[in-house]
Amino acid sequence: MKETMENKLFGKPVIHQEAMRKRIKLLGKKIAKDYEGTDLLIVGVLKGAFAFFADLARAIPIPLEVDFLVVSRLRDKRRKDGGTVKIISNIASDLKGRNVLIVEDIVDSGYTVTFLKKELLKQKPNSLKFCTLLNKPERRKVDVTVDYICFEIPDRYVVGYGLDYKDKYRNLPYIASLDNVIAE
Ligand code: 5GP
Repeated sequence: MKETMENKLFGKPVIHQEAMRKRIKLLGKKIAKDYEGTDLLIVGVLKGAFAFFADLARAIPIPLEVDFLVVSRLRDKRRKDGGTVKIISNIASDLKGRNVLIVEDIVDSGYTVTFLKKELLKQKPNSLKFCTLLNKPERRKVDVTVDYICFEIPDRYVVGYGLDYKDKYRNLPYIASLDNVIAE
């Protein structure tokens, strides 16, 4: 049999495309209601949030601006903060006085959200909120507030729909568990 990404590595999707489509539509409406009449800037955290960001932006039926931020995360279990988060490419827009919504792929330990919050508040936005496709509450190391969550998932490593394993599988159109591969 021909080896494709989908039949080789993964079992059933953890979250199907249709479930994501429905949930994102609802979340988009909720965000639109909360920000209606305000100046909203949504910022995608790359690379992981690229697919979710594109779908979410189109599900928010109010005028808004988009921007992006690229971060790198170097994991180091020996460090108290779990490693270092670095901004590789910063948001081009000025955040001062804006209503900013940061769009993440997944919140795991919470270190990235904590770091971004501290950094971005320096620019004095009018408001700063966080939205994530996936939330893994069992893995939390620091207490963070995530204002909009699409799905809560258990402590499993997942790929697809923007999320990678060694920079691959971001183009899988649904969320799958990587257990089979890690166990190899
Ligand atoms: P944290 O909340 O630990 O600072 O970091 C979240 C980041 O860790 C995510 O943006 C993602 O890059 C990575 N991450 C955490 N859990 C997973 C997972 O299950 N799959 C993938 N692909 N990345 C994950």
